[in-house]
Amino acid sequence: MTNSRAAVMKRATRLENVFFSTTFDPFSFSFCLILGRFEKGRIYTFIGEVVVSMNPYKNLNIYGRDTIEQYKGRELYERPPHLFAIADAAYKAMKRRSKDTCIVISGESGAGKTEASKYIMQYIAAITNPSQRAEVERVKNILLKSNCVLEAFGNAKTNRNDNSSRFGKYMDINFDFKGDPIGGHINNYLLEKSRVIVQQPGERSFHSFYQVEFKAVADAMKVIGFKQEEIQTVYKIVAAILHLGNLKFSVDGDTPLIENGKVVSVIADLLSTKSDMVEKALLFRTVATGRDVIDKQHTEQEATYGRDAFAKAIYERLFCWIVTHINDVIEVKNYDNTIHGKNTVIGVLDIYGFEIFDNNSFEQFCINYCNEKLQQLFIQLVLKQEQEEYQREGIPWKHIDYFNNQIIVDLVEQQHKGIIAILDDACMNVGKVTDEMFLEALNNKLGKHAHFSSRKLCATDKILEFDRDFRIKHYAGDVIYSVTGFIDKNKDTLFQDFKRLMYNSSNPVLKMMWPEGKLSITEVTKRPLTAATLFKNSMIALVDNLASKEPYYVRCIKPNDKKSPQLFDEERCRHQVEYLGLLENVRVRRAGFAYRQTYEKFLHRYKMISEFTWPNHDLPSDKEAVKKLIECCGFQHDVAYGKTKIFIRTPRTLFTLEELHAK
Ligand code: ATP
Ligand code: MG
Repeated sequence: MTNSRAAVMKRATRLENVFFSTTFDPFSFSFCLILGRFEKGRIYTFIGEVVVSMNPYKNLNIYGRDTIEQYKGRELYERPPHLFAIADAAYKAMKRRSKDTCIVISGESGAGKTEASKYIMQYIAAITNPSQRAEVERVKNILLKSNCVLEAFGNAKTNRNDNSSRFGKYMDINFDFKGDPIGGHINNYLLEKSRVIVQQPGERSFHSFYQVEFKAVADAMKVIGFKQEEIQTVYKIVAAILHLGNLKFSVDGDTPLIENGKVVSVIADLLSTKSDMVEKALLFRTVATGRDVIDKQHTEQEATYGRDAFAKAIYERLFCWIVTHINDVIEVKNYDNTIHGKNTVIGVLDIYGFEIFDNNSFEQFCINYCNEKLQQLFIQLVLKQEQEEYQREGIPWKHIDYFNNQIIVDLVEQQHKGIIAILDDACMNVGKVTDEMFLEALNNKLGKHAHFSSRKLCATDKILEFDRDFRIKHYAGDVIYSVTGFIDKNKDTLFQDFKRLMYNSSNPVLKMMWPEGKLSITEVTKRPLTAATLFKNSMIALVDNLASKEPYYVRCIKPNDKKSPQLFDEERCRHQVEYLGLLENVRVRRAGFAYRQTYEKFLHRYKMISEFTWPNHDLPSDKEAVKKLIECCGFQHDVAYGKTKIFIRTPRTLFTLEELHAK
């Protein structure tokens, strides 16, 4: 036995002694294990095939070439827990078994998801393309560089995280039959565009507005293939938004006027349009009344709303255009790699974590709903299906309870009855609907729901003295949402005049971003889907996509709220360990089996171990042959025989089988 294998065996034995002891307490186990490792600077822990990652808040020398080499091509438990181990497992499954796989990274804001996703991508880039094919190198380079650009435009400093992702990202990496990356595709989800207009105290707008990363970002854009005039347009748009922020309205009687007209001409220049057209779009709205088309003067409030909506919209459009541009250059080309018809995928999901702020609004509502959906997927795949497999295979099994958050997912997304449906109803009403009316509707329809409450029902509840809030009991904790702005943000109205203004820009890049500006006012009839419904649809599609792949999980934990490398806030960590479902995960793993395989495949790998099975067996079935083999090795107490599969309880047995196989 090699030294490293001996060390692994020793570690596995030590862990198993605790894990399978009769006094086992899953909470202390997982908590002490994670804490104990963290204190020694070991930030990763395995629970089954889930990697738990604790943010060290300091640079560790554990991602270099040496470490990569240690994990390359190894089995999951052969090396100490690490992101690279899970990345390698996902890669191997993809390559060996032609399985589409995905790595789902979750955890709250600042827990380390984005960093983890980057290390995973770096690992995959490092272990592929040994023959240095130029096209593959190009794709890898763009995939890595895209992070820098997307972070500049989609990340911002928040009170929770100096580099907080304010959009969700799911990236597919496509591989050819050799296992080299030949392309990719990024899906982005709901950018928090309101940040362009307002930020909470202590927070900032998107990094791009401060341009401290300017050179690196511009270089990365060049590498990706953005042309010079495109990069210029990007920064002109950013500058135009800053100037829009300086634009002030005054009122003359009922009529709003632009106070600082000079700003308008600067904006017009930047957006390659005319000052009078910008002014008109800001102060008037074209409306169709029967056959007539008239220019209706805005009130001051409408003009302010229009200006802000315009600033948010051009930033969002810019962001989506950047993503589309990246996708265009990394899209899988139809060249020789796909002639074998084999093109497999690893998806990496890095999406905003669960958020509880002092003031939670529509954005937090969407983000937290997204986390409910992902938790539901975790439950389905890790807790539910695992237990169902034991039942299906006829393995004696005592069901392990877990909190199923489907009830909260339904509360939000159920057709006709859920919060999104009620919000959409309110937005569809003709006439002025206020946020308060929406709250009233919520109260009437959901007042009795176990996971919903609002002021009306708990007037005595001290926290809910406010009169514009509702509370959802999320799987990760209670969040109070202020209804202020829900209706506007959900309708997400942008007056058609702005779309036409942009479509008529003489800058072709800008024009391309606004194709619907082509329509005249009489042609625009369809009511667009609301922001919440669009988000809901994209989440349902995302979960369906993830569920169709073999999932690997990274659960990130944030050790403290001070971004400190020294502090370990026990209470905060306990809470995360609890709500991430890690305890149930430990319980299922403990009562369950570390490994399972069909009898046929198991025999194929290990039949040489026993004289009864090598080279062929004469037993009535593969199942009988596997039983014989296991008895020969003396492992009968550590296995269970299902209808079609053998289940092995502890990794140690598997290691020993591997040792015997290697002899
Ligand atoms: P959000 O949901 O707000 O986007 P996040 O989970 O993506 O948060 P990250 O941006 O990945 O969080 O991490 C926050 C910060 O924590 C990083 O900027 C970095 O300073 C530190 N950090 C995270 N992971 C590591 C790591 N593995 N090594 C060193 N520092 C880390
Ligand atoms: Mg992030």
